[in-house]
Amino acid sequence: MTTTSTETVPVQSTAQQTNHDTFQSALSHWANIRALLRDEMGETAYENWVRPLELIEIENPVAKLKAPTRFLRDWVLSRYANRLRELWTSQSNNQITDIEIHVPTTPTNENTPRTANEFAEILSDKSPNVVRQENFTLSAPLDPRFTFENFVVGSSNELAFAAARRVAEAETVAFNPLFLYGGVGLGKTHLMHAIAWHIKKNAPNRNVLYLSAEKFMYQFIRALRFKDTVSFKEQFRAVDVLMIDDFQFIANKESTQEEFFHTFNALVDHNRQVIISADKSPANLEGLEERLRSRLGWGLVADVHPTTYELRFGILQAKAEKMKIHIPQDVLEFLAEKISSNIRELEGALNRLVANMTLVGRPITLATAQDSLRDLLKANDRRLSIDDIQKKVADHYNVRVTDMHSSRRSRTIARPRQVAMYLVKHLTQHSLPEIGRNFGGRDHTTVMHAVKKVEELLKTDINLQEDVQLLQRSLQG
Ligand code: ADP
Ligand code: MG
Repeated sequence: MTTTSTETVPVQSTAQQTNHDTFQSALSHWANIRALLRDEMGETAYENWVRPLELIEIENPVAKLKAPTRFLRDWVLSRYANRLRELWTSQSNNQITDIEIHVPTTPTNENTPRTANEFAEILSDKSPNVVRQENFTLSAPLDPRFTFENFVVGSSNELAFAAARRVAEAETVAFNPLFLYGGVGLGKTHLMHAIAWHIKKNAPNRNVLYLSAEKFMYQFIRALRFKDTVSFKEQFRAVDVLMIDDFQFIANKESTQEEFFHTFNALVDHNRQVIISADKSPANLEGLEERLRSRLGWGLVADVHPTTYELRFGILQAKAEKMKIHIPQDVLEFLAEKISSNIRELEGALNRLVANMTLVGRPITLATAQDSLRDLLKANDRRLSIDDIQKKVADHYNVRVTDMHSSRRSRTIARPRQVAMYLVKHLTQHSLPEIGRNFGGRDHTTVMHAVKKVEELLKTDINLQEDVQLLQRSLQG
């Protein structure tokens, strides 16, 4: 017995000593990590997200940190978890390779209101008047170019445009919410700003609040941190139109979603207009809570499709006109055909040509355009590989991808193969011999023949037209 205890005591105390040392050195790692993060993130982000974190315990290989709120924890984990792990690993010489962030079970401050039944109270004027401590600037700046006048309408965006106009012009709530969705750079933000501008101009006493979902979350967490959620929520009291851009950001962020859900319901209950944009429809957004998903679909859901050639051409014309610069027709056609991924890139290309002309005196011709946009065009092509196209086409016609390379000539296989060659020719920069090589080592004349054949058929065959359009859209979307 005695031997055991005399033996164990020193062991324990060494262990305690070691733990103590470990924690001491972890504290100094943590100080280093924070200093590095401060440089990387900048002062504001650092103050908001890292400063409130506290190192509480080391349990090799895990560093346990404490965050004052769930919001803060979720945010840090979603954005900085990897970086934190990396830094811990390198600072501790591989002793600590993972982190956990804990949140105290009792709120750090009981005055911090958690959700938003209380928010509804604020809207309905039941809550005591709160003196605002700090003036949050909730609304994000609006781009003066993003107006309805500057928005070119085509078949791909006409529904979204009409819905946006309707909401902007309506004096009462039109549909709640208006949910706009579609791919990157297709005009969602433009339409939201246009709504805001329109209302500001024509109904200046209506209060419009526009912000990104990210900012919504950021501001809310900030309010929690400064124990000022009441005035945060109070901001919404006077809002007639709330717009949240890039809503997908909130997917998977449970607590922010919950907060938003209450905000949203309170506004809708009080007949305020809500407008939301996202990259997917409510049904397809991942990480959305079910009740929020279904609620978001109650109003009008309008999508912006990938652009058509005509729309791209129209946008280029409108921009050139606005800049009062003459751009040769063939250059506009070239751009509209080649830069199909999104409108932001299309504008970028045009701006580059104009800059080349006004700054370096390079005239805008088809040749100079091809030359100065080479890298951009390549990037546009790179997104679509021959493989992608073959796979899509094979799927569409229900044939095997290997049939694209095979020498079988039965029509059910030869036609899809020709369509695939046609699409590769039109959607990428590959040469005919290259294309031939990728279709089972065929000769370039075979490819040329296939492309011609499809072009010929497209003039009369409506089914083929539909197939090709569909394929093209889904490949470029
Ligand atoms: P999203 O929010 O869908 O990613 P944006 O609204 O930011 O896209 O649009 C990207 C760019 O393309 C902006 O400069 C915008 O003005 C322009 N743009 C988009 N659609 C149109 C359109 N139909 N007419 C004119 N410009 C457009
Ligand atoms: Mg946007």
